[in-house]
Amino acid sequence: MTKPFVNEWRNVSFRPARVERPESVEAIMAIVNQARADGQKIKVVGGGHSMNNIFKTDGVLVSLCKLNRIVSIDPQNYTVEVEAGMALGDAIVACANKGLHFPSLGSWYGQSIAGAIATSTHGSSLSHGSLSDMVLEVEAVFANGTLRKFSGDDDDMKAMRCHLGRLGILTKVKLQLGPAFSLNCAITRLPCRAAFRQILSTARAQEYVNMLWIPDFDMADLRVLTRLPLRPRNQAALNLEHSYMKKSMLCLRLEDVGSFFSSHLYQLLPKCYGMRYCRLVQESFFEDQGVIDNSYRVFLYDLYREPTENHRLRMILNVEYAFDVECLPELLTKMRTKLTEFRVKGSYLNYPRINVRFAPKSDATLIGMNADRDTAYVGIYVLGSVQHRRQIPIAEAIENIFIEHHGRPHWGKYRYLTSPKYKETYTGLAAFEAVRSKLDPDGMFSAKTDMYDDLNRFETPPIGAMIRSVFSSEDYWQIRLL
Ligand SMILES: Cc1cc2nc3c(=O)[nH]c(=O)nc-3n(C[C@H](O)[C@H](O)[C@H](O)COP(=O)(O)OP(=O)(O)OC[C@H]3O[C@@H](n4cnc5c(N)ncnc54)[C@H](O)[C@@H]3O)c2cc1C
Repeated sequence: MTKPFVNEWRNVSFRPARVERPESVEAIMAIVNQARADGQKIKVVGGGHSMNNIFKTDGVLVSLCKLNRIVSIDPQNYTVEVEAGMALGDAIVACANKGLHFPSLGSWYGQSIAGAIATSTHGSSLSHGSLSDMVLEVEAVFANGTLRKFSGDDDDMKAMRCHLGRLGILTKVKLQLGPAFSLNCAITRLPCRAAFRQILSTARAQEYVNMLWIPDFDMADLRVLTRLPLRPRNQAALNLEHSYMKKSMLCLRLEDVGSFFSSHLYQLLPKCYGMRYCRLVQESFFEDQGVIDNSYRVFLYDLYREPTENHRLRMILNVEYAFDVECLPELLTKMRTKLTEFRVKGSYLNYPRINVRFAPKSDATLIGMNADRDTAYVGIYVLGSVQHRRQIPIAEAIENIFIEHHGRPHWGKYRYLTSPKYKETYTGLAAFEAVRSKLDPDGMFSAKTDMYDDLNRFETPPIGAMIRSVFSSEDYWQIRLL
């Protein structure tokens, strides 16, 4: 029997029949042919950062961690072709060394390129789309063992751009990037009502905007990033990096344990400790105020805020949905009313921050979360490990509001409710299914169960594993600086 496979976020665990780590396209074809002959299903895992069952399988689990190189970079046309298993962080650095930057990025870099596009991973901009929207060409091995390339804009290509790992095994991806640039980060703190009124017009007027809302303070921070020609990092950027680098591993472990206990105290003694804890969360968001740095370091703000890879202590279940931007003010107001009702009864979101991000309408994919509507993403964060049972009614109430507003759950994130209603919000879902059944008629790459079913809700927090993790070098990795 194989060892259980655990995702990076530590909330999904399963035992595949076997794990394969092919080093060539020929080896991938051989794995597919063998699985077909044995009647086995296949799932590919990229960085393993998704928080649901999207790559869960009892068949063959294929990791492309050894297909991790740049194939070619074209600095004239700002394009790059990479092997599909390449980590986003490695691609960012290799491209930046040749003067190419990603026009928009999310807050993290540990995903693989094929995994990130599988779920239409996004940053925050109403001018630049998701990573899926940047895809020019894809090469993949399909269920019948053949290798094919896709480009252009027909339904097959649109499906490949946001593929959910259900079409075949991607081997290469070509992306359209842009010239290198710097970003200046400016954060404005506003009372909630004013922030809710301003957020849409600011997102439309500026290239990169997101909002962090701390409900307990009734305040929100608008984070505006302004593009500058590439220039050296300023002192604020150097100070931020230095404050992170000077921390020893022991210091990082103590910080993790400290924030674990802080969030417990917040839940147990909200009246005495709530304001202090929320201030900690708010201050960490304010750290890059005034920073001027390479675009990717400013986009990847979790680089400094989540300094270790110990996800046993910080099992953050991120529930994020995508909405038509027009309904954002009403949606935020309803969430505010609901969270106030819970606070009056003494129930608090244990990771008290809500993130609002944006992407423009796209017709590059069939089922990207920003397909055919200008999109606002709204995400809540729940610590799976701390007082989790008390969080479930709050998270479910918020998710009900998300569903009421025709929200599309993030394909790579967590859900408490398993309503299938979101399927009605995708006009391209039927076309995606048609491509899927053409490319994979026997469902070799489709699991039997829905990707959101039976997720571990941590009704019994894994206390033993959490305590052991503080002493374990396997759970403790310092985040890499890019
Ligand atoms: C700390 C953190 C921060 C995050 N920040 C953001 C953010 O800012 N914005 C955002 O939108 N999302 C964010 N996410 C979500 C994340 O980007 C997605 O879950 C992404 O899909 C994970 O990529 P991965 O390489 O880890 O893929 P995995 O989770 O390993 O897999 C995702 C899907 O891709 C498929 N897949 C992977 N490789 C291949 C391949 N070669 N061929 C075929 N199928 C393949 C898998 O089968 C699966 O279906 C974040 C997640 C974490 C943990």
